[in-house]
Amino acid sequence: MIDLHTHHHRCGHARGDLADYVAAGRARGLTTVGLSDHAPLWAQPEDHPVPRMHMARSAFAGYVAEARALQAAPAGDLEVLVGVEADYVEGAIEAYRSELARHPLDYVLGSVHYVDGCHVYDRTRFESGFDVAAFARRYLELVREAAASGLFDVLAHVDAWKGRAPTRWPDVADDLDRTVEAISAASVAVEVNTSGLRKCDEPFPSDAFLRRLVDAGVPITYGSDAHDPDEVGYAWDDVVARLRALGVTRLATFRGRERGFVPLEAVAEPV
Ligand SMILES: [Zn+2]
Ligand SMILES: [Zn+2]
Repeated sequence: MIDLHTHHHRCGHARGDLADYVAAGRARGLTTVGLSDHAPLWAQPEDHPVPRMHMARSAFAGYVAEARALQAAPAGDLEVLVGVEADYVEGAIEAYRSELARHPLDYVLGSVHYVDGCHVYDRTRFESGFDVAAFARRYLELVREAAASGLFDVLAHVDAWKGRAPTRWPDVADDLDRTVEAISAASVAVEVNTSGLRKCDEPFPSDAFLRRLVDAGVPITYGSDAHDPDEVGYAWDDVVARLRALGVTRLATFRGRERGFVPLEAVAEPV
């Protein structure tokens, strides 16, 4: 049981210290917990332009050092990985490439959080006359660009546009096919992210999207997107059932930005 997507207080909207997430991973019987807080918003020059969404630029080196220290400390059978969730921001690929290269990381999650200047979970965009299908297609276009950027090891919450949508999401099957093609061509992994189950009624990605990814041979991994230590490992059983039904037998994991795999196993009993 692995969980590659967790946060902590530095991003300004999650609870707890890094050590609390490691402790939660140990308590739930995980074999691997990945620390992956929100990177600074390197697309902007200021030290801390969006304090409630991202850590400060000046906080990042301390974050990596604290995570590395936890990785080096004995934690029983639990492996600790040092990652980050970085944004895909149009026009800022080189800024992200140079910042990410300066730090020793095990993996980088890539996320589309901003769609034409507005946060993906900002409900104000859904006011009168909003075209949810157009928003979904735009989101997927940015996911394709994120895949092609080569910045990321894993694409996070690849259909997050549905997370706060006021209506049932539209059919964008053609765009899903094009997006799976782009992801497959880029040889990047995709996570099943169970914050979808906390924001709407299914994980990110949907079963239809996930089936296409698995059929295309895209490596799959798992992330709870925990913003509270209690959410580490969230809905793992649900994800295992979905993946088993699709014939998935292994999950992608990372060390020093090299991809490996672990067998997909049933949930460990909490100790
Ligand atoms: Zn967050
Ligand atoms: Zn995210």
